Amino acid sequence: MSEQNFDLVVLGGGSGGYAAALRATELGLSVALVEKDKLGGTCLHRGCIPTKALLHSAEVADVSRESAKYGVSTDFHGIDIPAVTAYREGVVASKYKGLQGLVKARGITVIEGEGRLTSPTTVQVGETTLTAKNVVLATGSYSRSLPGLEIGGKVITSEAALALDHVPARVAILGGGVIGVEFASVWKSFGSDVTIVEALPHLVPNEEESISKQFERAFRKRGIGFSLGVRFESVSQSDDGVVVTLEDGKTIEADLLLVAVGRGPSTQGLGFEEAGVTIDRGFVITDERLRTSVPGVFAIGDIVPGLQLAHRSFQHGIFVAEEIAGLAPQVIEDTNIPKVTYSDPEVASVGLTEAKAAEKHGADKVTSYDYNLAGNGKSHIIGTSGSVKVVRVVDGPVVGVHMIGARVGELIGEAQLAVNWEAYPEDVAPLVHAHPTQNEALGEAMLALAGKPLHAM
Ligand SMILES: Cc1cc2nc3c(=O)[nH]c(=O)nc-3n(C[C@H](O)[C@H](O)[C@H](O)COP(=O)(O)OP(=O)(O)OC[C@H]3O[C@@H](n4cnc5c(N)ncnc54)[C@H](O)[C@@H]3O)c2cc1C
Repeated sequence: MSEQNFDLVVLGGGSGGYAAALRATELGLSVALVEKDKLGGTCLHRGCIPTKALLHSAEVADVSRESAKYGVSTDFHGIDIPAVTAYREGVVASKYKGLQGLVKARGITVIEGEGRLTSPTTVQVGETTLTAKNVVLATGSYSRSLPGLEIGGKVITSEAALALDHVPARVAILGGGVIGVEFASVWKSFGSDVTIVEALPHLVPNEEESISKQFERAFRKRGIGFSLGVRFESVSQSDDGVVVTLEDGKTIEADLLLVAVGRGPSTQGLGFEEAGVTIDRGFVITDERLRTSVPGVFAIGDIVPGLQLAHRSFQHGIFVAEEIAGLAPQVIEDTNIPKVTYSDPEVASVGLTEAKAAEKHGADKVTSYDYNLAGNGKSHIIGTSGSVKVVRVVDGPVVGVHMIGARVGELIGEAQLAVNWEAYPEDVAPLVHAHPTQNEALGEAMLALAGKPLHAM
């Protein structure tokens, strides 16, 4: 048995945990970072980075298929999965190495092993007892399933989907949210027949309705099938694949079923409740300053109810480190955290939908402008359609931006600044957007809302 004392112990070395550790050491605190698997967590090893690498391979496949349209002759011979995997793993390995180097250079003590909260100031890892005035819980999340739907064999979650060694000919996907539509997009580009089942009335159901509808049109045009507003009933497996039955009696035959119905918090059996931390349906309940019910114990990232996104976890990590160091950082509401879906087409949004803005401010106090990418030169050059919608309070600030089209994820930076700085379209309109960029579409929407549209009516 050994005992080590620190200013801060962070349980979980994913996006949230390592960000908290990095910021805390910058602020002069001594930090132990406990990780049972690999530093970087879900995002680096099983989430954001590998899936975006896959989506890039998918984009290259589509570009090479369509290259004749741009006067470039190529022959598309197919998808070489071992090579895709080598490329994807190469990206992850390089980022992992960089992260390990950074954590070491900052003087963070990494403790390898599974940690358990044994008191408000103690974390036990094997024979080692770590004590600190403050503890940050950052244990992340796992792929959930539905009651009665067992994962195994040809019924898989995103982890197994990433590790597939072949392109399935036919795939069924349960869940039309971010993870479901990103895999649908990849597989379609790789040549699979794809069908999505979503119980809610729309794909990407957390987005502005007009964006979801455009998204559905785009997926339909790509030949991706989907059933909306219908629940999954059952699945059976055989040597030939799976048969998925929906509540309306419809069946879908496929080689495999990807279950992408959301992520549950990894909080069970870690001593949280025994130490007095309030848990609700597995999530750790915090106040807006990420304090749990136990003084000195904070929770961050996917275990805190709300958006499950890596950049929210980074922000949470930085926030708690600064809070513990007494810097009184600013709270960022989940609504003002940008969201990007990296499928083809991409979807990017921040702030309130028009409907939510009307609920909050009154329907007559909200207005919007929807700029069609058909008017945007760069979008035409790269062959994408889509739109940029800006929602504002009448005579007030921009409260939401909702975009769809190839590469619009790259436009979210300006959009989130406008929303978080509560800019008026009149503030943004005189500022210059480079030509020809897709960014101009955002500029055009701001010009229109400021009453001086340029390339629009
Ligand atoms: C397929 C997929 C794609 C995604 N794509 C994106 C994207 O493009 N953009 C985006 O923003 N987000 C994306 N996400 C979500 C993102 O990965 C998560 O929001 C983010 O990783 C959450 O960070 P976290 O620190 O809360 O948890 P995690 O990253 O899950 O880290 C938790 C860490 O804690 C460790 N741990 C758990 N329990 C213990 C214990 N008892 N002792 C020691 N260590 C422990 C785990 O091993 C893990 O490393 C994606 C997720 C998936 C699954």
